[in-house]
Amino acid sequence: MDVLDPAVSTPQPLDDARTQLRQAVGLLGYDEGMFAMLASPRREVTVSIPLRRDDGTTELLTGHRVQHNFSRGPAKGGLRYSKDVTLDEVRALAMWMTWKCALLNVPYGGAKGGVRIDPRQYSTAELERVTRRYTSEISPMIGPERDIPAPDVGTDEQTMAWMMDTYSVQHGHTVLGVTTGKPVSLGGSLGRATATSRGVVHVAGAALRSRGIEPARATAAVQGFGKVGRYAARFLDETGVRVIAVSDQYGAVASSSGLDIAALERHVDATGSVVGFGCGEEITHDDLLTSEVDLLVPAAVEGVLHGGNAHRIRAQVIVEGANGPTTPEADLVLRAADRLVVPDILANAGGVIVSYFEWVQANQAYWWSADEVELRLADRMLSAWEHVSRHAERLGVPLRTAATCLAVERVAQAHQLRGLYP
Ligand code: GLU
Repeated sequence: MDVLDPAVSTPQPLDDARTQLRQAVGLLGYDEGMFAMLASPRREVTVSIPLRRDDGTTELLTGHRVQHNFSRGPAKGGLRYSKDVTLDEVRALAMWMTWKCALLNVPYGGAKGGVRIDPRQYSTAELERVTRRYTSEISPMIGPERDIPAPDVGTDEQTMAWMMDTYSVQHGHTVLGVTTGKPVSLGGSLGRATATSRGVVHVAGAALRSRGIEPARATAAVQGFGKVGRYAARFLDETGVRVIAVSDQYGAVASSSGLDIAALERHVDATGSVVGFGCGEEITHDDLLTSEVDLLVPAAVEGVLHGGNAHRIRAQVIVEGANGPTTPEADLVLRAADRLVVPDILANAGGVIVSYFEWVQANQAYWWSADEVELRLADRMLSAWEHVSRHAERLGVPLRTAATCLAVERVAQAHQLRGLYP
């Protein structure tokens, strides 16, 4: 049975996000009114996107932008292009962005966008038209002081350049701070493209050491070979971790002596997938997730570690490169088995940290060196790791509970200090 079989696992990210919030609100002693406020998005919009296809026909797509909370500053979060996008999924992802920004103390609330489209089935010109129409439809909601989109699954720096251009043309002047994750030659930040993966690897090293495992002697499996998984595999390999299995949506490959990641990257550039890589054996998605490794990095989508497979996970340390890869049910099983789960809102925060750096640089029109970005990123990731792990120890709770409590408390405090209007 395939772990990605929907009969086995139908991800319910909004239920998962609300379960996590409910637990944090309980531990923090807030009332039902506070829970209701934090469980619901502040603003959301659903838009129709008529697309003229290259063959002259038209098609109607649907997009969403959800601003979960902006008590601490402008809303911030990625834009996802996927055929599986739903409004509830976007709501969950927006809520997780609020906690991520609060936890890392970047001065933003949380947002997320999504368009229900399989980007691989469309030409570049069609994707540009979709992006421009979507941006135009949501443009009253976004802006450097309102809501700042960034790349996510299925979108990239080109998408952010089109969004920035559309918004700027509508406003009559160039507004670099309206999106982050832009090309470096167009107001992007050095280090942004690899920031999420750098952050994952900083935290993975600390987490392994906390379990007495020296990274240079550790083994790892990485699920996903996109914007996060690919560079996570590369940086783990550079750190001396033996990456023995990786996957993408088409399949998985493994080699017990360690995959040659540089050669695998060349293969993926040439063929578009890890499948068919000659220097490793093909395995299933389930084999990858249940590999006998020290470190597992789920870096694809939500809900892949669930009640049906959590008891078979053998990795000591799980570092969540994706948003929401572990369901609350799986969390309980992994906790009982003494696995260390480093939660998404901490583990993959490197992306939004460098997005914040990009926004600061764009607003000041002054650009930092790659070293400066890298040092500040490492410092923020490792301080957050220390803070969350100490808090978890003090409370005797898993890292996710500690991280969510720290974040929710910051957002609730901002909300209380601002008071209610009117
Ligand atoms: N999509 C990324 C995330 O989920 C980055 C968001 C951002 O940089 O705003 O964290």
